This record gives sequence, structure tokens and C-alpha cells, in this order.
Amino acid sequence: MRTMRKTKIPVFIDPSKVAQQKLSFSGLLPSKNLKRLVAECQNSCSEIKVDIECSIDVQGLACIKGSASADIELVCQRCVQSYHQAIEAHFCYSPVDSSSDADELPENYDAVEVDDHGLLQLHHLIEDELILAIPLIAMHDDSSCFSGKNDVTIGDIPNVEIEERKNPFEALASLKKLSK
Ligand SMILES: [Zn+2]
Repeated sequence: MRTMRKTKIPVFIDPSKVAQQKLSFSGLLPSKNLKRLVAECQNSCSEIKVDIECSIDVQGLACIKGSASADIELVCQRCVQSYHQAIEAHFCYSPVDSSSDADELPENYDAVEVDDHGLLQLHHLIEDELILAIPLIAMHDDSSCFSGKNDVTIGDIPNVEIEERKNPFEALASLKKLSK
């Protein structure tokens, strides 16, 4: 495993500039910065591990490539228990401004529009990517799901038997009656 240099993940980047400078960002992004993502989770969301490398490709396009991953808590739709789900997103962006045509980009790039100052909201982008990485139907693996185990437990409780057992004093009373 590569040792991680803990750099701060900037909120905004100038994609053309960081690409030319071949900057890379690698570090942990506090989940409190990503409120929309946290809202999608049940209770907790780990820090976001981010790895981004910026470069100019052979065609001269600025390229912002990287990955983001986190551990979030979701509620299983099958057994309604919360569980931890690892999510991971990989992305490769090339910046476009509103005047340029995103369709001209090569297939392996996603176009990302920069604002009026030529800046890209990096945190926002990472957040969007991770929200898309959340499974549509949150569910345990079959082996760790509680739904099967719950069914067995309910079947095992001998409620009926207890209710049908007679009051011992009642039984004794009827015995005394018989002996008279
Ligand atoms: Zn489950």
C-alpha cells in the first residue's frame, strides 16, 4: 500500500492550473463537509479517503482523475437493521466552460463545468460521485443479513404451549374435589 501524504483536499481547484502543475491531492476529507452525503446515511459516515491526480493528457486536455471512498451506515431493506457499507467512486474529469462543447471530449472523460472564475468545486464533485455510489437498494450480504435468523427465532418461541398449560392450583383444586 502506498503511504498516504496527508494533504488537505481543497474546496475549489482551478482545473487547468492544477493539471499544468501536475498536482495530486491525497488525504481524508471530513464527512461534515459533505452534508448531502451524510443525509443519505443512517447514522454515520466515515471520513472520505480521496486520491486525485491532475495532468495534461497527450491531447493537451486537462485531466482530473481519482477516486473517493468511505464507509457509511445504511439500513438493510430486508431486515431493517443498520449495517456498514463501503462505497467507492472512480472518476476522470476534464473541465469545460459553458461555451465549449462537452461532446467533443474523448469517451473516457466526463465533462465538468467550471464556474465563472474557471474554478471547480471539488468537494461538491466528490460528494456527487459518492452519492451515486450508494446502492439503490441497501441490503446486507445474504450471509450477514438478520432476516433469516429472525424468522427462526420467532418460530422457536413456544408461546402457544405456555398459554395452554393449566394453572397448577386449578389442577390441585380439582384433585381435592375428586378425593371428597
Ligand atoms: Zn439485513
